[in-house]
Amino acid sequence: MAGGYTIKGTGPDAYLAGGRLTIDLDALVANYRDLAARSAPAQAAAVVKADGYGLGLEPVARALAGAGCRRFFVALPHEGVALRRVLPDAEIFVLNGLFGQEAAAAYREHRLMPVVNSQSDLSVWEAYGWDGENPRPCAVHVDTGMNRLGLTFERARALASENALTRALTPILVMSHLACADEPGHPMNRRQLESFQAVKTLFPETESSLCNSAGIFLGGDFLCDVTRPGIALYGGGAVGGIANPMRPVVLAEARIAQVRRARAGESVSYAATPLARDTIIAVASTGYADGYHRAASGAAVPLRATRAGASGFIHGQEAPVLGRVTMDLTLFDVTALGEDAVAVGDHVELFGPNMPIDRVAEAAGTIAYELLTTLGRRYHREYVGDGA
Ligand SMILES: *Cc1c(COP(=O)(O)O)cnc(C)c1O
Repeated sequence: MAGGYTIKGTGPDAYLAGGRLTIDLDALVANYRDLAARSAPAQAAAVVKADGYGLGLEPVARALAGAGCRRFFVALPHEGVALRRVLPDAEIFVLNGLFGQEAAAAYREHRLMPVVNSQSDLSVWEAYGWDGENPRPCAVHVDTGMNRLGLTFERARALASENALTRALTPILVMSHLACADEPGHPMNRRQLESFQAVKTLFPETESSLCNSAGIFLGGDFLCDVTRPGIALYGGGAVGGIANPMRPVVLAEARIAQVRRARAGESVSYAATPLARDTIIAVASTGYADGYHRAASGAAVPLRATRAGASGFIHGQEAPVLGRVTMDLTLFDVTALGEDAVAVGDHVELFGPNMPIDRVAEAAGTIAYELLTTLGRRYHREYVGDGA
């Protein structure tokens, strides 16, 4: 948080909350600049769906716009409406497509552009889309292997030839989405790139976009004209097997409510995990209701037979989770810190600069995306940095 200052606190007051989130907008901006440089000569857009990956749509979008980002992607139309209030002039694309005629009116009113994913999206947008400088602007998504959303290649070809005559739509972007970009050596990447190169020839006047965060690290031809980073902006490691070059954006901490001593042979938490040795336990005031997943529970817990649990970080040391994570409380083993090292009111880092979010996610059998987007509403949140 070097040089930053607090611009905004949200959520419950810090002294009444079980945990606090410190969201470093300078780190977010640095990550955007880093990804923009890696994307060059392509332009970097930003994906801010799911409330800016859980970090707060408004501060995140303002900071990114301040860093020069002009194009934004959300998943849902209501997210687009919220973003339009924050950024009156940005280009906003809605990834999940159109939600029928009634929703199209909201797209018109708020100048949202659908990512056209299906025949029904096409028909509705042709009938109800808005006219900007050009009629009915949109992105066209063509599936190249996800089988999630997107037109088939054949449908896209038909659209391209019809539209060349009618000019009913103005495709601003033609896009597809990579299934395996987090595994750089996966053969699917090359296959999807080849399919997408064929798609691009259908829309020769239109900018193209293929890469999410991980795709940017594939570089070269993958970059196309526009990239769509999400997780890497927020500090998550996009690519497996390499050191994460992004700066951490979120520091999540829990307040210690109590410190207690238990003897070998006693047990902890639900399901009574036995303690193998005398243990000093720091009881932290966050749990799975705050998005500290129950699957991060400690080693020796029956439901975690095969994997060690997560660890926190406190006073310069790692502290493993003990027993089951509960709704509002999590137990940390601070024995190694020694007597009286931890006091009530101290904070344990759940993830952040000292405890990488990807490590905690892995311990919980999930990914950083899920830890961020399930951050609970009970944290006190502080936004630091001037976002510049
Ligand atoms: C969510 C999403 C992105 C961003 O992905 P990250 O892995 O978070 O960078 C890009 N494109 C599409 C279509 C998405 O759904």
